[in-house]
Amino acid sequence: MQVISETGELREAIKAARSQGKRIGCVPTMGALHAGHVSLFHACRSQANFVVATIFVNPTQFAPHEDFSKYPRPLEKDLEAAKLAGVDLVFTPTKEGLYPEGYSTYVTVEGVSAPMEGALRPTHFRGVATIVLKLFNLVQPDVAVFGAKDYQQQALIRRMVKDLDVPVEVITAPTMREHDGLAMSSRNVYLSAEQRKSAIALWESLNLAEDRLHDGETDIQAVAAAMLQHLQKAAGVVPDYAVIADPQTLQELTAPQPRMVALVAARLGTTRLIDNKEIAL
Ligand code: AMP
Repeated sequence: MQVISETGELREAIKAARSQGKRIGCVPTMGALHAGHVSLFHACRSQANFVVATIFVNPTQFAPHEDFSKYPRPLEKDLEAAKLAGVDLVFTPTKEGLYPEGYSTYVTVEGVSAPMEGALRPTHFRGVATIVLKLFNLVQPDVAVFGAKDYQQQALIRRMVKDLDVPVEVITAPTMREHDGLAMSSRNVYLSAEQRKSAIALWESLNLAEDRLHDGETDIQAVAAAMLQHLQKAAGVVPDYAVIADPQTLQELTAPQPRMVALVAARLGTTRLIDNKEIAL
């Protein structure tokens, strides 16, 4: 497995893979790899024969008060996990390498980035779209894999790829969960034992929404309110939102439709968790 942090070297490695006729896959991550990330590497491997994982805690997607500096960075462990998962190349760029002095260009995806995470973290998706487009330009992958865990993020990347004619196939892989249903996240390590117990309320609230809708509930507001109430009941959980939205546009729904997605975000102390579930009627 190659480990490269310099962009010129990366371009050379990609050129070499390309000249061998390889189909290139890319899995962008911020590291602190868990089984969710590993499942993306495997999904990528099934679609490509040269798998590039990127590990970069991207500063432009964090607001000043967020956890950029304390975000876990266990690089040696991550490289072991990537190697075990059959990754061919890990790109570990530096902040200075990707955003040198004078950097001024950002990508804004309108619409899909406005509600929920976009409303609560106003510069977040600009940072995400910018880094992902930069990584696409550097790696030039045929296929890129993202997790359904960050549902609004994958919808935004799909929108950007379509709008800007980026020649990459976007794949969304399912969310990997702990035994009790909690979505795996690099941020779960921040949770205290008590908070870890309460965190299951996110997954429960999504299942509750699905049950209500499957039972024929047509009042979407009532379903969203029930999700919120369920989150509020859990000790130490402060919900940010609980929404039923359209899976493509992420706009909140006013009536049930055949395909929907329920999304929740909540804070447990200083840790913020998100989760979602697609619901089909
Ligand atoms: P991150 O390192 O948190 O930026 O995540 C990198 C990629 O892994 C994103 O596409 C995430 O959606 C995806 N991911 C994060 N958690 C999970 C999970 N539990 N299951 C599947 N994919 C995930």
